[in-house]
Amino acid sequence: MSELELLAAEISNCTRCLLHRGRTNAVPGAGPADAEIMFIGEAPGFHEDQQGLPFVGAAGRFLDELLEGIDLKRDQVFITNVIKCRPPGNRDPLPEEIEACKSFLDRQIKLIGPKLVVTLGRFSMARAFPKARISRVHGQHRKIGGVIYYPMYHPAAALHQPSLRPTVEEDMHGIPELIERAAQIADSPFPVEAEQLKLF
Ligand code: URA
Repeated sequence: MSELELLAAEISNCTRCLLHRGRTNAVPGAGPADAEIMFIGEAPGFHEDQQGLPFVGAAGRFLDELLEGIDLKRDQVFITNVIKCRPPGNRDPLPEEIEACKSFLDRQIKLIGPKLVVTLGRFSMARAFPKARISRVHGQHRKIGGVIYYPMYHPAAALHQPSLRPTVEEDMHGIPELIERAAQIADSPFPVEAEQLKLF
């Protein structure tokens, strides 16, 4: 088994927080171990919990469409979430759940070594843009430790609020250029305070 598969097995057996009690399956993530691009969502929902796979419901179908728009297929990217088990009733993840899962996500990013991490929604955005507002920083990138972080709205947000759809599509179209320029983009200072982010 590869290190990434061993990590997935560890995640599937995790009991670090109470969410393990209600899960059908943990959802470690899916995609190639050497993916150049990682997408990080929020948490598994009903269908993800049932199947043990990320983004297989309505938001996932929209994500597939967005990927197609830039000539990418799901199996070319690694897709995971900030937390790996479904919260009851799809509520927001709690800080202690995010903390309990943090080292799993850190290890996945380290093992995969992507050029680009696309964060979907505010919970995954907070890794690289703490205290920022997604309405302000979506579509803006910053490189930290050699990895470019690129926040986007969550696809589910655009499904609930159709006026966001063009913004989400436009941000998605920024990805190919970022990948092309990845080596030329310099690391940003970290941490950036919320005040500084207003200048973006
Ligand atoms: N929404 C997420 O954030 N993640 C999933 O896996 C599915 C829906």
